[in-house]
This record gives sequence, structure tokens and C-alpha cells, in this order.
Amino acid sequence: MEVPNNEENMSRCICGTCPTYIEGDTGFFCSLDFSKKGPVRRGCVCSECSLWPEYELSGGYFCINGKAG
Ligand code: SF4
Ligand code: SF4
Repeated sequence: MEVPNNEENMSRCICGTCPTYIEGDTGFFCSLDFSKKGPVRRGCVCSECSLWPEYELSGGYFCINGKAG
């Protein structure tokens, strides 16, 4: 399901706690689309995010695979 790009959803993003996250990156990749910084898979915490069940997300690694939906 697509994740609406709004402040409330963005504030719930936990990408900043993820081992794959690159410091200074945008986060919120499930809505914004893949990262331009070229992250490498080191685990994904998206399944622990409150948006995961709400928008029936799957797969994770949106920073590499691109946005949901
Ligand atoms: S599902 Fe992942 S990318 Fe989307 S807001 Fe949550 S932690 Fe961030
Ligand atoms: S999309 Fe997933 S893998 Fe990428 S930074 Fe966010 S939590 Fe980590």
C-alpha cells in the first residue's frame, strides 16, 4: 500500500535506528523512494515501525528497493 507523504507519517519513521541507514540521509523511504546515497544491506527495522502494519508493508529495504505500493 502506498504511504502518504505527510509530517505525521514522517515523524514515525525509525530508519535512523537502522544499521543500514546512512547518517544524514532522509529516511522515510517507504514513501519518498530509494536513497540516493547507495546504502548497503545491513538489516532493516521497517517491520518494527508503526507504519508497517498500518499500510500493510512488506519486504522492507525501501531505501534500496524503492517506495512501497
Ligand atoms: S516503514 Fe521503514 S521507511 Fe517507512 S517510515 Fe517506517 S522505518 Fe521509515
Ligand atoms: S528502509 Fe529499512 S533498511 Fe532502509 S534505512 Fe529504513 S529501516 Fe533501514
